[in-house]
Amino acid sequence: MTDQVEKSSEQSAIEKARGIISSYRGPKIRIMEVCGTHTHEIFRQGIRSLLPEDIELISGPGCPVCVTPVSFIDEAVFLALEKGCTILTFGDLVRVPGSLLSLQTARGKGGRIQVVYSPLDAEVYAREHPEEQVVFLSVGFETTTPSSCIALEQAIDDNLDNFSLLCANKTMPAAYRALMNTTDAYLYPGHVCAISGLGDCRDMLALGMSGVVAGFTPAELLTALAVIVKKTQEGKPFLVNCYPRVVTEEGSPEARALVEKYMEPCDTRWRGIGVMEHSGLQLRDAYAAYDARKKYDLPKIEGKEARGCRCGEVLQGRIKPKDCPLFGKGCSPEHPVGACMVSSEGACSAFYLYQR
Ligand code: SF4
Repeated sequence: MTDQVEKSSEQSAIEKARGIISSYRGPKIRIMEVCGTHTHEIFRQGIRSLLPEDIELISGPGCPVCVTPVSFIDEAVFLALEKGCTILTFGDLVRVPGSLLSLQTARGKGGRIQVVYSPLDAEVYAREHPEEQVVFLSVGFETTTPSSCIALEQAIDDNLDNFSLLCANKTMPAAYRALMNTTDAYLYPGHVCAISGLGDCRDMLALGMSGVVAGFTPAELLTALAVIVKKTQEGKPFLVNCYPRVVTEEGSPEARALVEKYMEPCDTRWRGIGVMEHSGLQLRDAYAAYDARKKYDLPKIEGKEARGCRCGEVLQGRIKPKDCPLFGKGCSPEHPVGACMVSSEGACSAFYLYQR
């Protein structure tokens, strides 16, 4: 009975939100889905097809693999082929092109490249293979960085001297600020806000930037979009948490404290956006023995983007993937030219899968 009540109230929320969205006529509202999972879910649930012309969705920079610069792949390839390290990584990164080689092609040249499902799997691998020097590719935003720190903590507890992290972890606030002029409202990433709380969104509100924190079900996404439509018409900046079952005002102080213990802010490069101050995380000096860049004295590598790839503009919401001349021609999920076509959260792969 309770299930039935929940289903019917969810259905009526969906109907109400659909009505608000599809009947909107007025000045154009540009909404950026910051999070790659939102981009894919909005496509998968058919929400784009409900939108009237006056509501435009723009894909943003919230796909961790997509914003990881080419130089990071080059560093990982260098560690695999020149230093003989075993590289452990999430699957998407394996196919992202580097300046010359992807990790997949490095594997074909003898590099030891393994896919894992979590940083802790990498720590277990290192413990079980003491004869190998293991490097885990630590990428991701506020949501995934704590799990890299848990793996590091475990490696320290286990006294491992064959485990290190190659970090390209990033935090969202600098990107929120960098892109605020490209859009009228952010659809804030629910998973990131679950860790960071609402403070970063409130800072954006103080700068005059509107946004709604959104979940991932049809009812949550439609409600978030409908709230943006309604609130925009009121003409004042707004912030609404439409994902209260997961996101609280304070987020997860425990997860943030864990990250703070092992990592510190640093300037870092985002693919297509460039270097942004204090937008990345690096291991603190006290943990240099676990920092692959220091441990293997990595040279500075300047990555070279693939010719013709416009991932940078896609990630800033300046063009749609279909505006890239290579979309669906030279570039497809089977033969990706840029990271946005590789990642399961990438905008180019979403447009290819659902709208080609
Ligand atoms: S379609 Fe391919 S080449 Fe074009 S921007 Fe997207 S990933 Fe890059």
